[in-house]
Amino acid sequence: MPHADSSYLNIVNNCLSKGAQLVAVTKTQPIDRIMPLYQAGQRVFGENRVQELITKKQQMPQDCQWHLIGHLQTNKVKDVLPHVELIHSLDRLKLWEALETECQKAGVQISCLLQIKVAAEETKYGWDPEELDEVLKDKMPLRFENVKLKGIMGMTTFTDDMEIVRKELKTIANVYHHIKSNYFDGDSTFSVLSMGMSGDYQIALEEGSTMVRIGSLLFS
Ligand SMILES: *Cc1c(COP(=O)(O)O)cnc(C)c1O
Repeated sequence: MPHADSSYLNIVNNCLSKGAQLVAVTKTQPIDRIMPLYQAGQRVFGENRVQELITKKQQMPQDCQWHLIGHLQTNKVKDVLPHVELIHSLDRLKLWEALETECQKAGVQISCLLQIKVAAEETKYGWDPEELDEVLKDKMPLRFENVKLKGIMGMTTFTDDMEIVRKELKTIANVYHHIKSNYFDGDSTFSVLSMGMSGDYQIALEEGSTMVRIGSLLFS
């Protein structure tokens, strides 16, 4: 990774020039390493664990927004709801239902992205795109009123082979456009394509990402 590229301002300018939003992924980073990003103007932060997100939110200035980007267990839904602006990791029907139920009880709404799985790795969570298509066909008419679907999130295989990475990014973008045109036609709020991390965010921007989630590159 070229070091000249790893400053916060370079990264944020690369994103802005493509009209994309930067989520600064702060997992495992202490507050004194996160504050300089805040001081440079960053307000949107991503965490992959509920407890760490809540703890950091309490320690950081109040005008930060927090995104949950990691796998969410249904028994943590209630805890996380009051603290997050966006959940990137809506990856299964059971979670969708649990979010809807808890939001109804609390009288709130939550914005979510559908996490799809295109990477070859077995460990990655997410909907298989075909399975997601079936679920949306089946469930969208039920109108989950409190869970607001805003877009798609995807991750690529961890590899140095940038051809594989680009191909997967194209697939994620295609799934996004397919779902948007089939199920959210005319709904301008379904507009988030969350893809791109430290190793592939520039390619992700070229492939149409509107939101990148960058951690290690910001702290290197
Ligand atoms: C850790 C993480 C990131 C950021 O990864 P880096 O390679 O450190 O930029 C992005 N998305 C998710 C879901 C993550 O867990």
